[in-house]
Amino acid sequence: MSAAPEQIVYEMAAPRVARIRLNRPERRNAQSTRLLYELNAAFDRAAQDNDVHVIILAANGPHFSSGHDLDEIAAGAAHENIQAERTVGTWCGFGCAGAEAQMAYEKEAYLGLSERWRNIPKPTIAQVHGKVITGGLMLVWPCDLIIASRDATFQDTAVDLGVCGVEFFNHPYELGIRKAKEFLFRSNVLTAEAAHAAGMINHVVEGDELEAFTLSIAQEIARKPLFALKLAKEAVNAAQDAAGRGTVLQSAFGHHQLTHAHNLLVHGMLMDPTNLAKPKG
Ligand code: ZN
Repeated sequence: MSAAPEQIVYEMAAPRVARIRLNRPERRNAQSTRLLYELNAAFDRAAQDNDVHVIILAANGPHFSSGHDLDEIAAGAAHENIQAERTVGTWCGFGCAGAEAQMAYEKEAYLGLSERWRNIPKPTIAQVHGKVITGGLMLVWPCDLIIASRDATFQDTAVDLGVCGVEFFNHPYELGIRKAKEFLFRSNVLTAEAAHAAGMINHVVEGDELEAFTLSIAQEIARKPLFALKLAKEAVNAAQDAAGRGTVLQSAFGHHQLTHAHNLLVHGMLMDPTNLAKPKG
């Protein structure tokens, strides 16, 4: 990866507050391999800077993220592109035959990076507007707080496409059991208000107030001692992990890979194409 990011903007929004922006608006911030690793590098930069206490993740353009870059995947380029990146996990097998390459890619670039960001030992805030579709959830959910504008919507289209949910299977922890099941079964659009009612979102604000409101919360947190913030985050994460979250995510990831392998056998592609052409609200 080159030193200069092309699909990410990194800035200091205020003293002690770093703001990372997804900057691929012409593609609705579709997650190319390049974007994911530029984002990872930006998170690392903020994490390693002792003058940064809080990290905001925002997005340029009309929508937060349309999900994985399906053009890159369809062209088979993702598996080549990841081999040019500085990968961060221990899983290997990129470019191998059969199900191995797909599992390797997704374990590293999808589940691996999202879980890595979830464990950044500093408070992170997702500043969300517009649509967050399927893979887009894997950028929002790893953050500690989620602040959304009233127009924000959330959707996981995976089941429509013959897959059992996005690779970072945090649905039960974001929405609770019943709402998580409905969200998966129906692939329906969840409004910001509905996501807030389910406990997935901390605050819903008007669109023209989103950036200022998010920054004010970030600055409030950033004034606190960083070590205490780090340990408070670790303690809450440990509560989830002690209840088996890691095992749940690994189990769901195995199911996810099985659906990809099944679709390859039946349809010759990673997803069931039956519903691919249907417009998504
Ligand atoms: Zn997948």
